[in-house]
Amino acid sequence: MPRVPRPLDHTTLPRPHHWSDDAACAGIETAVFFPVGKGGVPASVDAAYAKTFCNRCPVRAECLAHALTRREDYGVWGGLDEDERADLLRQARRAAEKERRQQRAKEKANASTAA
Ligand code: SF4
Repeated sequence: MPRVPRPLDHTTLPRPHHWSDDAACAGIETAVFFPVGKGGVPASVDAAYAKTFCNRCPVRAECLAHALTRREDYGVWGGLDEDERADLLRQARRAAEKERRQQRAKEKANASTAA
Protein backbone atom coordinates (compact mmCIF):
# COMPACT_ATOMS: atom_id res chain seq x y z
CA MET A 1 0.00 0.00 0.00
CA PRO A 2 1.53 3.37 -1.01
CA ARG A 3 2.38 5.75 1.79
CA VAL A 4 0.21 8.82 1.74
CA PRO A 5 2.10 11.83 3.03
CA ARG A 6 0.48 13.43 6.02
CA PRO A 7 -0.69 16.98 5.51
CA LEU A 8 1.61 19.57 7.04
CA ASP A 9 0.59 20.67 10.48
CA HIS A 10 1.48 24.36 10.63
CA THR A 11 1.37 24.29 14.42
CA THR A 12 4.36 21.95 14.58
CA LEU A 13 6.54 23.57 11.91
CA PRO A 14 9.60 25.34 13.27
CA ARG A 15 9.44 29.11 13.18
CA PRO A 16 11.82 31.86 14.23
CA HIS A 17 11.58 33.14 17.77
CA HIS A 18 9.29 36.12 18.09
CA TRP A 19 9.12 38.62 20.97
CA SER A 20 5.54 37.60 21.66
CA ASP A 21 6.76 34.10 22.56
CA ASP A 22 7.96 35.58 25.86
CA ALA A 23 4.84 37.62 26.58
CA ALA A 24 3.40 37.55 30.08
CA CYS A 25 -0.03 37.41 28.46
CA ALA A 26 0.66 34.22 26.50
CA GLY A 27 -2.32 31.95 26.96
CA ILE A 28 -4.49 34.66 28.53
CA GLU A 29 -7.81 35.29 26.82
CA THR A 30 -7.41 38.08 24.25
CA ALA A 31 -10.58 39.84 25.45
CA VAL A 32 -8.72 40.82 28.63
CA PHE A 33 -6.55 43.17 26.54
CA PHE A 34 -9.43 44.82 24.70
CA PRO A 35 -11.49 45.95 27.67
CA VAL A 36 -12.27 49.60 27.21
CA GLY A 37 -15.37 49.47 25.08
CA LYS A 38 -14.05 51.41 22.11
CA GLY A 39 -15.14 50.75 18.55
CA GLY A 40 -18.49 49.34 19.56
CA VAL A 41 -16.98 46.58 21.64
CA PRO A 42 -18.57 46.45 25.11
CA ALA A 43 -16.21 46.85 28.02
CA SER A 44 -15.95 43.59 29.91
CA VAL A 45 -12.87 43.90 32.06
CA ASP A 46 -11.05 46.88 33.48
CA ALA A 47 -7.91 47.85 31.57
CA ALA A 48 -6.07 47.90 34.90
CA TYR A 49 -6.37 44.14 35.04
CA ALA A 50 -4.74 43.76 31.63
CA LYS A 51 -1.97 46.11 32.71
CA THR A 52 -1.08 43.85 35.64
CA PHE A 53 0.25 41.39 33.04
CA CYS A 54 2.10 44.13 31.16
CA ASN A 55 3.74 45.41 34.34
CA ARG A 56 5.65 42.15 34.72
CA CYS A 57 6.11 41.42 31.02
CA PRO A 58 9.68 40.99 29.75
CA VAL A 59 8.74 42.15 26.23
CA ARG A 60 6.75 45.24 27.16
CA ALA A 61 8.96 47.60 25.13
CA GLU A 62 8.72 45.42 22.04
CA CYS A 63 4.96 45.15 22.43
CA LEU A 64 4.55 48.91 22.77
CA ALA A 65 6.83 49.55 19.78
CA HIS A 66 4.75 47.12 17.74
CA ALA A 67 1.50 48.84 18.71
CA LEU A 68 2.84 52.32 17.95
CA THR A 69 4.37 51.26 14.65
CA ARG A 70 1.29 49.41 13.50
CA ARG A 71 -1.02 52.09 14.87
CA GLU A 72 -3.02 49.59 16.88
CA ASP A 73 -6.15 51.60 17.67
CA TYR A 74 -7.69 49.39 20.31
CA GLY A 75 -6.73 47.47 23.39
CA VAL A 76 -3.90 47.39 25.89
CA TRP A 77 -0.46 46.98 24.34
CA GLY A 78 2.84 47.44 26.12
CA GLY A 79 1.05 48.51 29.28
CA LEU A 80 -0.79 51.41 27.64
CA ASP A 81 -4.41 51.64 26.58
CA GLU A 82 -5.47 53.32 23.34
CA ASP A 83 -5.86 56.78 24.89
CA GLU A 84 -2.41 56.61 26.46
CA ARG A 85 -0.85 55.49 23.18
CA ALA A 86 -2.65 58.27 21.32
CA ASP A 87 -1.23 60.79 23.83
CA LEU A 88 2.25 59.38 23.30
CA LEU A 89 1.91 59.67 19.51
CA ARG A 90 0.58 63.25 19.83
CA GLN A 91 3.53 64.22 22.03
CA ALA A 92 5.95 62.68 19.52
CA ARG A 93 4.29 64.55 16.63
CA ARG A 94 4.44 67.85 18.56
CA ALA A 95 8.11 67.31 19.42
CA ALA A 96 8.92 66.52 15.78
CA GLU A 97 7.02 69.59 14.59
CA LYS A 98 8.80 71.81 17.15
CA GLU A 99 12.14 70.46 15.97
CA ARG A 100 11.23 71.15 12.32
CA ARG A 101 10.18 74.73 13.20
CA GLN A 102 13.45 75.34 15.07
CA GLN A 103 15.43 73.92 12.15
CA ARG A 104 13.59 76.16 9.66
CA ALA A 105 14.16 79.21 11.91
CA LYS A 106 17.85 78.37 12.16
CA GLU A 107 18.14 77.99 8.37
CA LYS A 108 16.32 81.28 7.86
CA ALA A 109 18.64 83.05 10.31
CA ASN A 110 21.70 81.57 8.59
CA ALA A 111 20.40 82.65 5.20
CA SER A 112 19.81 86.25 6.34
CA THR A 113 23.29 86.57 7.91
CA ALA A 114 24.89 85.16 4.74
CA ALA A 115 23.09 87.68 2.52
S1 SF4 B 1 3.19 44.13 27.31
FE1 SF4 B 1 1.17 43.38 27.92
S2 SF4 B 1 0.00 43.10 26.02
FE2 SF4 B 1 2.17 43.27 25.49
S3 SF4 B 1 2.94 41.19 25.36
FE3 SF4 B 1 3.33 41.91 27.43
S4 SF4 B 1 1.58 41.31 28.69
FE4 SF4 B 1 0.99 41.12 26.52
